[in-house]
Amino acid sequence: MNILNQPVGILSGIGGQTANRLQKLGLYTIQDLIFHLPLRYEDRTHVYSIGSLRPGITALIRGKVELLDVLPRGRKSLICRVSDGTGFINLKFFHFSANQHNMLKPGTVISCFAEVRYGYAGLEMVHPEYKIVTSPNECITETCLTPVYPLTEGLSQNVIRKAVKQALDLCSQEPGLLTDWIPETILAQYHYPALSVAISALHAPDESVSTQALQNGSVPALKRLVFEELLAHYLALRITRNKIKAWASPSFSETPAVKLASEQFIRSLPFKLTGAQQRVMSEIEQDCRKQHPMMRLVQGDVGSGKTVVCAYAALLALTAGYQVAVMAPTELLAEQHKRNFSAWFEGFATQVMYLTGQLKGSARKTVLQALADGTAGIIIGTHALFQESVNFNRLGLIIIDEQHRFGVHQRMALREKGQQGGVRPHQLVMTATPIPRTLAMLQYSDLDISVIDELPPGRKPIVTSVIPAERRSDVIDRINGWVAKQKQVYWVCTLIEESDVLQCEAAEKTAERLAEVLPKVRVALIHGRMKSAEKDAIMQAFKNQQVDLLVATTVIEVGVDVPNAGLMIIENPERLGLSQLHQLRGRVGRGNDDSYCLLMYQAPLSDTARHRLGVIRDSNDGFVIAEKDLELRGPGEVMGTRQTGQMHFKIADLIRDADVLAIVQKHGDDFFTHSPAAVQPLCDRWLGVSTDYSEV
Ligand code: ADP
Ligand code: MG
Repeated sequence: MNILNQPVGILSGIGGQTANRLQKLGLYTIQDLIFHLPLRYEDRTHVYSIGSLRPGITALIRGKVELLDVLPRGRKSLICRVSDGTGFINLKFFHFSANQHNMLKPGTVISCFAEVRYGYAGLEMVHPEYKIVTSPNECITETCLTPVYPLTEGLSQNVIRKAVKQALDLCSQEPGLLTDWIPETILAQYHYPALSVAISALHAPDESVSTQALQNGSVPALKRLVFEELLAHYLALRITRNKIKAWASPSFSETPAVKLASEQFIRSLPFKLTGAQQRVMSEIEQDCRKQHPMMRLVQGDVGSGKTVVCAYAALLALTAGYQVAVMAPTELLAEQHKRNFSAWFEGFATQVMYLTGQLKGSARKTVLQALADGTAGIIIGTHALFQESVNFNRLGLIIIDEQHRFGVHQRMALREKGQQGGVRPHQLVMTATPIPRTLAMLQYSDLDISVIDELPPGRKPIVTSVIPAERRSDVIDRINGWVAKQKQVYWVCTLIEESDVLQCEAAEKTAERLAEVLPKVRVALIHGRMKSAEKDAIMQAFKNQQVDLLVATTVIEVGVDVPNAGLMIIENPERLGLSQLHQLRGRVGRGNDDSYCLLMYQAPLSDTARHRLGVIRDSNDGFVIAEKDLELRGPGEVMGTRQTGQMHFKIADLIRDADVLAIVQKHGDDFFTHSPAAVQPLCDRWLGVSTDYSEV
């Protein structure tokens, strides 16, 4: 058996308990240890003179103990003053033994390593690592940077360092043992070192490499391994995709009946489709003619007209005799889709039905029955659609709107739902959150991507201003003037705490107060804790212009469409992410008139907050905003934890290593054709054998 696959227990000093702890870190085999790469490094390669120390640096020093004292003041602590002739520094210990007290007698020479900071009486090191230096010739420096590994409870750096070192030694006894799966051509093109070189360089970087270079990712050894790690994640997702693509699915072939229906559908629309919409429709059409499931993501900025594109896909399925499920993230949105679809499919012999968690009793039974016997052609709903009791007769297409609210796993669950005897439905995912290109490539490498990169004609950019809350009365005046022109307004109250209840209460109070100061304005309130019928009625009243000012929580974020509402006030916008703000703002600017968004912040603003609001003010382009959001908040925040949660990187950093992602994107698919033998080993190496990526 290959030594790489041997359990960690074969190493000396690794007993059962340590092996268990290593397993908690996902380290089962020798290979796992070799690929357990350091989080950061410590530099003990040279000795700092005490006089040259500055707060914030982590340094190795050598000096003589001048003074030792126990300070009873406050928390009892042992203070040890050390000097080397260039200056002095205080070592501070809050926990100490009598033995320690004895060993650090004045006159003793010691070496210490810790971060330097400002203390009560000059520079200090708190709980430094230290050693007694017995002979003046003793070497206290190390030749390599010291790796600091990710740990788990009960495991020390020393134990893991020794284990990794043994694993590396075993491996170096047999050159060629560690297969380098990256082809020579790629190594040469990007000046990547060979695998074994890169591995040893990262576990024990020599003194020519700086800790900064390792941190900022510019070291070739690191770049190479980051490439390999990102590649492994990419390949794993592609495997998933290829497996799904291998299933059978209904083919919506092009028949005269389909042609007729599609012409009728397009003719009856109240607008002319944009070029981008037509292009994406034909991409969908081509997918659906194949015998394998479509797996397509449609990205389009708010207001780009995604709904009609997915309705067109629904038409293809219906005409081929299949059912369609449309899943929306909120009831509000599901209701709106229900209305749109019902209107668009009026001239077609099909039933559009609606299912959410709210639907109970016999009404629910009727819907479930219609789905099971096939009388319902289109079912629109929330995630209630993939509950167990729901059975489809002939589900051919799943449409998921505003995908960022759903996790990858939910996506998969619904896919399974529609499976019938080895045949799985097509799947279309719509998202209004433009995802930065680099992230999309990893996040959605199980999907093909279409982009609607054109807004319907006549839309004017939304004029956005950033104003302090003190100018509330100006804002109120502006609402008066706006409503006098028969136009409508949104007032959005953002989350105060992570509590639905509090958010709704805040919105209630705001609505009351606004109604008082704006007696001529018809004010209504909508929030997430209302019954869906109630929300529906309010939304409908707003649409019919029976309400002038709609006070809302962020429930109106997605999809809600009222073209006559051209002014939006967002309170405390600094609390929201940029993409979310952009989504909210997208509720206005849907008509042909000028529209405005006022970001009313609570002073004082932090620099970052000011910067972020500036981004929203200056750009109307969701993709630009998403890129900025990524830069400012990091991928976890942008994608939502639910989605990045599965993507756990050992060394890659999606922002720092964006350039590497581009390289992965360029060469990734070639691995399936040119080096198929590399694919699984790379995934095992980086994702662990226990990964469930491929489970679909
Ligand atoms: P989103 O992409 O944000 O989901 P919607 O599908 O809700 O956008 O469309 C926004 C509005 O634009 C809707 O009122 C829709 O009817 C309208 N619309 C869609 N396509 C066009 C078009 N080609 N020309 C004019 N209006 C359109
Ligand atoms: Mg939409």
